[in-house]
Amino acid sequence: MTRKRAALLAAIKEPMVVEEIEYLDPAPNRVLVRTGASPFCSTDCVNWRGELAKIPPTILGHASMGEVVEVGPGVAHIKVGDRVIVPGTSECGVCFYCAAGRPDQCSETFDRGGIWPHVANRDNGEPVSAAGNVGGYAELMNVTANQVFPVETDLPDEWLSMLGCGITTGLGCVFNVAKVQPGSSVAVVGLGHLGQWMVQAARIAGARRIIAIDPIAWRREHAGRLGATHAVDPSADDPVAQVQKLTEGRGADYVLEAATVTEAFTQAILMSRRAGTVVLTSVERADAQVTVPQTALSVTSRAILGAQNGNVRMRHDLPRFIRMMEDGRLDPEAIITNRYRLDQINEALRASDEKRDLSGIIVPSLG
Ligand SMILES: [Zn+2]
Ligand SMILES: [Zn+2]
Repeated sequence: MTRKRAALLAAIKEPMVVEEIEYLDPAPNRVLVRTGASPFCSTDCVNWRGELAKIPPTILGHASMGEVVEVGPGVAHIKVGDRVIVPGTSECGVCFYCAAGRPDQCSETFDRGGIWPHVANRDNGEPVSAAGNVGGYAELMNVTANQVFPVETDLPDEWLSMLGCGITTGLGCVFNVAKVQPGSSVAVVGLGHLGQWMVQAARIAGARRIIAIDPIAWRREHAGRLGATHAVDPSADDPVAQVQKLTEGRGADYVLEAATVTEAFTQAILMSRRAGTVVLTSVERADAQVTVPQTALSVTSRAILGAQNGNVRMRHDLPRFIRMMEDGRLDPEAIITNRYRLDQINEALRASDEKRDLSGIIVPSLG
């Protein structure tokens, strides 16, 4: 047993509480990771409101990084001292989906509903779960060895932490899912951290026209500094018509959605050109419905693709994405808008919910 501090979602819609809890020793196939940094993700605003079926008390934070401090007796490929990325998706390597080359759908992640039931105990005896099977808003994580990925780089913790969610999803959607081609037009719908990564990746992929869409002016301007060539304010005029106007009346070759609201799904589909590609990434509520004209889905031959974690294969994609940071093609510092101590977790939640942060990084060593 190890006592460490964690930010607990003890009750839905109540402020999270930071307290010491007793972590379980690692089971044979699990490891303990000392948390280096965890980006606060907007998905956790949805979790905090209880709209993604997470059950308190739980530790939110489905993406993180850190250093392995203890390994279970059955773990052979991870060792104490490894610097690791801890994403929200496991790669067991042996389930149907991993065998099919699609670990983004690994059964170890999805068959459990995205929550690990018991990683620690509160002093009152309550078992504590880990959301995303990670529980990154804490000093320590008890995770499966299939969900930690060693990396060799000197890049700072805060940068690497974004490889667990924003970078993998943003870059993966551009390179793995849409497979954006040089000279093409790309519309990015929603310019939170994910949209800003998509803009950077589209620029690296050689897109000629990158249309950044968000009702918040500073986010559109930020995207302009990261490579967007045009900005669209969806609250000023119909965003579909605005994108068509910027693309010879056709619509964009690729549309990448990172806006969360269902209305944006419909708009994303309609602002793609005929036979274009649409990638959808977010969830407003677990029971939300999207309405789209039938013709937009059939006779116009659009490819409409859902994407979780950018369809990445971590061992294959992490070294590529890290290299893009090391050589300066990707700018992680532009995405980090704040660093927070663990006990500032509710400030991070508010800043994300009120769309004041892109990525607010929780750094437990700050205090
Ligand atoms: Zn996330
Ligand atoms: Zn698997």
